Order: sequence, then structure tokens, then C-alpha cells
Amino acid sequence: MTETTKPIKKPHGKARHIEGKCVACGARCESSCPVDSIEMSDAGEPVVLTVKCIGCEKCVKVCPAAALEMFYTPEELELLRKWEAQHGAAGEEISEEERALREMLARYRGVWVFIEQYDGEAAKVSWELLGTGADLAGILDVELCAVIIGHQVGHLCDEAFAYGADKAILLDNPVYLNYRTQPYSDAICHLVEKHRPEVILMGATGQGRDLAGAVATVVKTGLTADCTGLGIDDRRNLMQTRPAFGGNIMATIMCDKFRPQMATVRPHVMAMPERRAGRTGTVIREGFAPREEDVLVKVIEVLSDRDGKDQVDVAAAEFIVSGGRGLMNKENFALLQELADELGGVVGASRSAVDAGWISHGRQVGQTGKTVRPKIYIACGISGAIQHMVGMQDSDVIIAINRDPEAPIFQIATYGIVGDLFQLVPALTRRVRDLRSTRGCEVPERVAV
Ligand SMILES: Cc1cc2nc3c(=O)[nH]c(=O)nc-3n(C[C@H](O)[C@H](O)[C@H](O)COP(=O)(O)OP(=O)(O)OC[C@H]3O[C@@H](n4cnc5c(N)ncnc54)[C@H](O)[C@@H]3O)c2cc1C
Ligand code: SF4
Ligand code: SF4
Repeated sequence: MTETTKPIKKPHGKARHIEGKCVACGARCESSCPVDSIEMSDAGEPVVLTVKCIGCEKCVKVCPAAALEMFYTPEELELLRKWEAQHGAAGEEISEEERALREMLARYRGVWVFIEQYDGEAAKVSWELLGTGADLAGILDVELCAVIIGHQVGHLCDEAFAYGADKAILLDNPVYLNYRTQPYSDAICHLVEKHRPEVILMGATGQGRDLAGAVATVVKTGLTADCTGLGIDDRRNLMQTRPAFGGNIMATIMCDKFRPQMATVRPHVMAMPERRAGRTGTVIREGFAPREEDVLVKVIEVLSDRDGKDQVDVAAAEFIVSGGRGLMNKENFALLQELADELGGVVGASRSAVDAGWISHGRQVGQTGKTVRPKIYIACGISGAIQHMVGMQDSDVIIAINRDPEAPIFQIATYGIVGDLFQLVPALTRRVRDLRSTRGCEVPERVAV
């Protein structure tokens, strides 16, 4: 007679919060709970109502910070041990839904960077993203691919390899001569369906924002705009960090149930990778091209503002002298211009100064302005609101001039000067001028658009 083992039912246990691990992701755990047994505290952390918890583990699986775990009574632990003996230690029970999801996710592999170009010249942000893409591809152990669309743009493949791409997908056709949403979006969607990348990065520029949104809508996936940090978690999810709630917190967003995972990043947020001339890769030429007569938008003429006289590219400047509400009026910005001229730099501003009409929006630094990474950033009469700091905190050297010793800008400043900017800025200008005349230094050429 053979002994039959009675099947043991797996004990469910209850969820609990691991103190100090919650990153206040926006209450994913609360919204995942099918029986409303999670409430959020004022600090944005979960409080599990143990009496209601049915132990479904949904909150544990959904938490990006592994801040929730299951706990079992001693009796349940004993049962769990027996259950594991019957099912094997790795007796993971997965639902059909979970199995289908895992299979779908496994079909997508590779990191893509869309190479934005005008007249065959690539936008610098695309090379910056290849640097970040290479890091992500390294963690995921996949290839980094540059996606190049345009007309007579084959030369960009070699550039992409020099900046770290392992391969390049090239769509070269007259229909792609000028950027238009429909043909470019159709092209990327076609490529996504064919090659199934798991990550797509684009610059948060006019073109990149337009294209990324159109593609994400068609392929039905998530898109995180204006990321300031990108990483990979232990389930191959792209961790997309960006300011949220008006810039008061940094949120890490994940798209764990859809592929590809799409993110845009502003110019100058990521560091420029080293250019290694002569580095090679594989070019994949794709023939997909919509017929010109099927494209509704026609480009009649391209007007360039490159010769505009007052156009200053704050984002590309190596020296920036920025002014805030402490400048008091428009005319006082002349003081900053003098110092910027001595340094061969440009004048930037906080949003308060822009809103007051003292300077144009093109000069605004921060969350809703430009992101900058100059060698030296001099903040004059700027308090250091988080929305300003996210746009300039990666500057090599930050010099802050403020009469309030408690101003938050001093927390990130390399050098802080407590005092009146109306005395300090002219004094600095004089000092730089004197040094230049005694040492005979040339004023560096200003970077203009
Ligand atoms: C959604 C959102 C997006 C935003 N985006 C941006 C953005 O992109 N960029 C941005 O800058 N802001 C942005 N803001 C606004 C931001 O929150 C702040 O209001 C703004 O940065 C404050 O500008 P400020 O530092 O010039 O002015 P204030 O905060 O008023 O600071 C003025 C500073 O000048 C100092 N000061 C005054 N007189 C002198 C003097 N004579 N000498 C020396 N110091 C002096 C004062 O001590 C004070 O610290 C955004 C806000 C929101 C809600
Ligand atoms: S384990 Fe399930 S029931 Fe319990 S708190 Fe988490 S989601 Fe809710
Ligand atoms: S899902 Fe995790 S990180 Fe997000 S609020 Fe809940 S416990 Fe915190």
C-alpha cells in the first residue's frame, strides 16, 4: 500500500511595511490592494490594516523599493515549510496573467537611442543619450542601438559608433528629409514591431517630445518625460527619475507591464560620453518609408533662427551669470551682462526674473527652463528653489551671491558669498578685468546659437 500525502494549502500571511525603505513612490501599494487594506500616512508611507489583508502579495510585487514583505505566524511558517517540501523550495506560484506578462517582457530586448538630426547634423543630446544608453545596455547585457532617420544621413552611423552604439538602424529616404510627426512616428512604430527594443531614449527637445508622445500612444506603452536619472532594477525595469509635484520631490517611475519603456531626457542633463574615432558597429538598413502623397503635412520652407541677433544658447554656455528677483529690475541685469562679457559667458535667470519681464524666457534656468552644465554658474540674488536647482545643480562650480545666509542656494554652492550683489558683482567684474589685463588673457568667445 502506498502512503498518500495530503496536499497542503499554501498559507497566505499578511503584508507589512519594512521601516525606512519606502521611497514614497506615489502609493502604488495602496492602489494595487484589492481589499483596500493599505492606507497612506502623512509621510506618504503605507499602513497595512492587517485585519483586512488577505495576503495576495500584490503590494509586495508592485513596490519598486522592496519596502513591503509578507510575514507569517509560527503556525503558518510551519505550514509554509511543509508546503515548500511538497512543491520544492522554489515553489513559486504564478498566475496565468503573470506568466503571459513575463513571456511578453522576455520578447523585448535591447536599448535604442533616437538620433535627432537637422540637415544631417545630430543634436548633441543624442550623443549624451548614447552615453547613458551604454550604461543601461551594460546592466541589461544587451546591445546599444542608434536609430537614424533622415535623408542622406548615413554618415551619422559612424558618429553613433564613435559615441558608443553597437549597431545602427538606418532609414534613409527623401520622405524623411524634414522632420514631420507622421512619417517619423510610423517609421519608429514599424521598427518597434519588428525589432522589439525594451528601452527607447529620446532627447526632450521639440522634436523628441513630439515624436516620443506619438510613438508611445501608437505602441500603447508608457513614456516618462524630462528624466533626470535613469537606472535598471533587478527585474530589468527602467527606473525613470524626474521631478514631480512641482519639483518638490523626485519620483522614480516604472513601466513594468508594457514594452518598450520610453523616456525623454533634456539636453545637458546627462554627461557627454567620450568620442572614440574609428570605433565600428553594424549598420542595419531598413527600407520602410511612407509614400510622400500619404503624408498630410508638407514642409514648404524651413526658416532658421540661427542668425538671430539676441539668440543666446544658455544651455551650451560654459560660464553663466544668472540673476533672480534680487536684481530688483530689468536695468540691473546690465551688471550681470558686464561680468558675463568679462568671462566670455552669458546671462541666465530664475523664473521670477523672467515672470517679472526683466529678461526673456529663453534665458530661464530650471525645471520649466533650460538645464545647464557650465564650468562656472554664478547665481546672483537667487534663493535656490528646487525648481531652479534641478536645472543647474550639475554645474562644475557654483558660486552663489545672496544677502540671506540661510538661502537654500548655499546648500549646493561650491563657493557662497553672503552680501549685497550690487556691491559684489561690480567688484567681481573689476577683479576679472584686472586679472585679464595683467595676465593678457583673451576673452573666450561667447557660445551663440
Ligand atoms: C511648476 C514650477 C516650475 C518652476 N520652474 C522654475 C524654473 O524653471 N526656474 C526657476 O528659477 N524657478 C522655477 N519655479 C519658481 C521657483 O519655485 C521660485 O519661485 C523661483 O526660482 C524663485 O526665484 P528667485 O530665486 O529669483 O526669487 P526669490 O525666491 O524671491 O529669491 C530672491 C533672492 O534674492 C536675494 N536677494 C535680494 N536682494 C539681494 C541683494 N541685494 N543681494 C543679494 N541677494 C539678494 C534674497 O535673499 C532671495 O534669496 C517654478 C515653480 C513651479 C511651481
Ligand atoms: S497583501 Fe494583498 S491584501 Fe494584503 S495589503 Fe498587500 S495587496 Fe492588500
Ligand atoms: S509601493 Fe513601496 S515605495 Fe511606493 S508607497 Fe508603497 S511602500 Fe512606499
